[in-house]
Amino acid sequence: MSGRILIIDPNAQRRMLLKSLLLEEFYLVDMMTDMADPMLMVRARHADLVFLAYDAENSAALPTLRQLHAQSRETGVPVIATSPEQTIAARLLTAGADDVIIDHPSAEVWHARVRTLIRQKRTQDELRLREETSREFGFEPAIPEVPRGGTHTVTLFSTAGPGEGAFDVRLKGCPVMQVTKVNAAAAALARCTADPQTALLLRVFSRRSGMHAMQLIARLRSAPRTRFTPVIMVIDPAEQGMAIQGLDIGASDFVVQDISMEELTARLSTHRRRFIMHERLRADLVSGLEMAMTDPLTRLLNRRYATTHIPRLMTQAVDAKQPFSLMLIDIDNFKLVNDRYGHAAGDTVLVEVAQRLRSTVRSIDLVARFGGEEFLVALPRANPAVAAQVAERVRAAVAMEPITVRSAKGNETDLTVTVSVGIAQADDQQDEAFEAVFSCADLAMYQAKRDGRNRISQGTAAA
Ligand code: GH3
Ligand code: MG
Ligand code: MG
Repeated sequence: MSGRILIIDPNAQRRMLLKSLLLEEFYLVDMMTDMADPMLMVRARHADLVFLAYDAENSAALPTLRQLHAQSRETGVPVIATSPEQTIAARLLTAGADDVIIDHPSAEVWHARVRTLIRQKRTQDELRLREETSREFGFEPAIPEVPRGGTHTVTLFSTAGPGEGAFDVRLKGCPVMQVTKVNAAAAALARCTADPQTALLLRVFSRRSGMHAMQLIARLRSAPRTRFTPVIMVIDPAEQGMAIQGLDIGASDFVVQDISMEELTARLSTHRRRFIMHERLRADLVSGLEMAMTDPLTRLLNRRYATTHIPRLMTQAVDAKQPFSLMLIDIDNFKLVNDRYGHAAGDTVLVEVAQRLRSTVRSIDLVARFGGEEFLVALPRANPAVAAQVAERVRAAVAMEPITVRSAKGNETDLTVTVSVGIAQADDQQDEAFEAVFSCADLAMYQAKRDGRNRISQGTAAA
């Protein structure tokens, strides 16, 4: 995995060591020495990952870290803080580090942690990019603000093994953690599915427990609901190889069993923050897409979606030599409803007609609000006889049952509403472009109006 990494470290020897390590894996490495350099934030913005060195002589490190963290809310660039002292880890995490690496771990550990954070950054980039697309459609998502602190819901998956008891006691004694212990993978999976924000702690103390952990991680990551659930391996230092494999499969982090509860809590906060960011980006994306596709009043597909998607469906059908019909539906004398009972009553009629349309057509049909009081329905695999049947059902469903509206003065009235329907057929004998078939349906609809409204009319190829 390639990526651009910025190292910020005043110490030349450490800087060069880290650089040579990163070059082994073909990362592009950029370096800065002065934490007061005004270019620092600019260069950090363009990185995929930032390394920031902390040591006791380096008083600017903490404020710089906070600044980088604030910027990363917008850019998503993660920061790994490095420090010679374990005791400072919790503070660095609380100041906004996404990960803390202490002292001199093996090259494999460095690389696995870097890969993990770069992978998470890429996921976030992808979500942000799609979010930009929905923004182009006029939807403005909010950048999430995620608070720290609070209680952590923790699921501990652990089977008997060395040090189990002591770890459990420390965990359960931690006031900000609500711990549920499970001893089967199925139970762990069920809990994460029920509450994807829970942090899953996986104890790995042997090859066997490691294999179970790998399988579980893979299953969690392949299910959409638990894709971002924080998964933290709690390892015996002898099982570091397993931890590296776990990170590569998709674990969020690993810690050693004697980690301080202060540091573990700080790590849990970091993972929860990332989980919430990912979930919100995804939720914004889904609702943004829905907003881009549907008409807010009737919840039917909107015209823009209809005019891009229906022609594709039609081409597919024509290529496969399958019948395909279009149906254009226009409410009769709708202007009178607005004029007599007010715009709100008109809206009520639109919503109710849309609802009857949706429940009358076949499930494979696509219903769109095409204009003010005009609806377009695509009917895949419907020959003229089937299309006429569906159209008649629609006409009857609207006309048969009056619609209750409330006037501006508050009086309720039952209105009989009718529609005129034009049908046209995509057919390889004639011009099969969407526009041609659509205008054929449009002409047929006007014919139905001329013939007295509340009826259907079939367009012909010659029309
Ligand atoms: P026809 O039977 O010939 O179709 O007559 P009509 O009155 O239905 O047709 P016309 O095109 O004259 O009027 C359509 C009306 O639909 C005019 C417009 O104000 C109203 N309209 C369009 N969009 C909306 C909407 O979102 N809400 C409401 N309440 N009215 C709308
Ligand atoms: Mg109209
Ligand atoms: Mg009308």
